[in-house]
Amino acid sequence: NKSFDYELRIGIFGAGGVGKSTITIKFTHNIFIEEYDPTIEDEYIKEIELNDKKILLKVLDTAYPEEFCDPFPRWVEFSQVFVLVYSIIDKYSFGEILNYHYKRIKNILNVQDYPKILIGNKSDLFTKREVKTKKGKELAKQLNCKYIETSAKTGENLNQLFYEASLLAIQELKNK
Ligand code: GDP
Ligand code: MG
Repeated sequence: NKSFDYELRIGIFGAGGVGKSTITIKFTHNIFIEEYDPTIEDEYIKEIELNDKKILLKVLDTAYPEEFCDPFPRWVEFSQVFVLVYSIIDKYSFGEILNYHYKRIKNILNVQDYPKILIGNKSDLFTKREVKTKKGKELAKQLNCKYIETSAKTGENLNQLFYEASLLAIQELKNK
């Protein structure tokens, strides 16, 4: 019977195919998934320690179901921190962060700003890169958040991602 100092909820947002499921499953189960049903939404848990605190992380891997019933507001309600993911080999997914994900979350929360991290995923595929690191950094500055490049394949910076997200979530809890 374990007790945790914190229970944190992190939502993973971004366009289809950017690696939301792969990031989530690689971090929580240390498995790289070659192919995962793009319509499955699920919640994953992982126990971590951070600055001597026991933390239960709940990670929401968002995905649009095949039948249309807009789940977006429910995802926003779940999340204390928003991980906004694009793929560095997909320019379109980069544009979607500002045009769609960032704005929808902001409108639903009805606030000036909210806790988030910008992620450029698939850094291992740098030879196919369509979005320069500089672009990611500029967007993060505009959105007032950190920028991290990750690879769900090699695992690069995934711990960093969830470490930063957890810090933000704890901060958010303390502010309330
Ligand atoms: P989602 O729609 O955002 O959940 O995207 P998925 O997690 O299903 O990933 C889409 C495809 O990209 C899958 O074939 C993954 O194996 C692949 N993928 C995801 N992340 C990475 C990565 O960091 N590097 C590489 N090489 N492939 C990745
Ligand atoms: Mg998915």
